[in-house]
Amino acid sequence: MPVSKIDLHCDISFCALNGKVDLFKPIENVFTERFWDDEEIIHQISIPDALDTNTVALFGVIFPYTQNMDISRKDDLIKSYKEQSSYYDNLIEDLKNKNINIKIIKHIESLYFLDENNYLSFLQEFKRNNIKSIGIMWNKDSNLGCGNATETDTGLTDLGRKVIKKMVEMGFIIDLAHTSYKTFFDILEIVPDNHPLMCSHANVYSINPHHRNLKDDQIQALIDRDAVFGLSFVKGFVGGQTIDDWYRHFDYVVSKFDGGENIVALGSDFDGMFKSSLMHGLEKISDLVRLESYLLDRTERDMVDKFFWHNADKILKF
Ligand SMILES: [Zn+2]
Repeated sequence: MPVSKIDLHCDISFCALNGKVDLFKPIENVFTERFWDDEEIIHQISIPDALDTNTVALFGVIFPYTQNMDISRKDDLIKSYKEQSSYYDNLIEDLKNKNINIKIIKHIESLYFLDENNYLSFLQEFKRNNIKSIGIMWNKDSNLGCGNATETDTGLTDLGRKVIKKMVEMGFIIDLAHTSYKTFFDILEIVPDNHPLMCSHANVYSINPHHRNLKDDQIQALIDRDAVFGLSFVKGFVGGQTIDDWYRHFDYVVSKFDGGENIVALGSDFDGMFKSSLMHGLEKISDLVRLESYLLDRTERDMVDKFFWHNADKILKF
């Protein structure tokens, strides 16, 4: 029996709705025939494959998007959020009816449609819709703060501070992935020590200096806050395409930092990648079994458990 697994970041609805895939059939081909903004959609998660790998929980990402990610089209972003939120409700119902024990945790990635007038009512709606966790940014800057691709990093705005304070008060898990360096630390200043925090999907900047990756002081901050750091399988963030390349990120956090073993977790970004992001041997959820034996060859079973399940589980206990 493979070790239990929790994945902190899976764009299931993005792939299912755009790639038109059936989640209840095992994956035969990761490449779908559908395109999004001229990039091929990759199908990496299925329920039968998740069961085979002993995956017990997946953070199901709602990624409100428009064509070419035009964030000025707020109505389209809201429509996209609603469509994906209902998709997960139906999926959760289907799993229940089929007696399949995989927990789907609804997460929102980016809040580009929020403004001063609507943020309170949207946060309340997210709560009613059973959304558990929120990352306020994607790559681009917004009226809340700066994203990872920012040119001038001014951190959180006043509105961003209000939104984060409200998210804390309402008990949402806070995701720091995609924030700029300054937004990351501005959020930490607001969030109290005992509040659940994660960086759901990124890698290590010292291994591969990509703007989506975390610098050493950010990793140390996650350790100090007892947060979780989901390591992704996106080729551009890893800076290589083999499992050995990916392992350098895992090993860096675990070996270089005191307490690093208590934050590393799985944050694959499966179903949210394109052809150009695909690594060799970490292409789909069934490949987690290969990664598990790779890790067991190099580290203790206890460490492998922490990575695949235990560290992420502490977030779910909140
Ligand atoms: Zn992302």
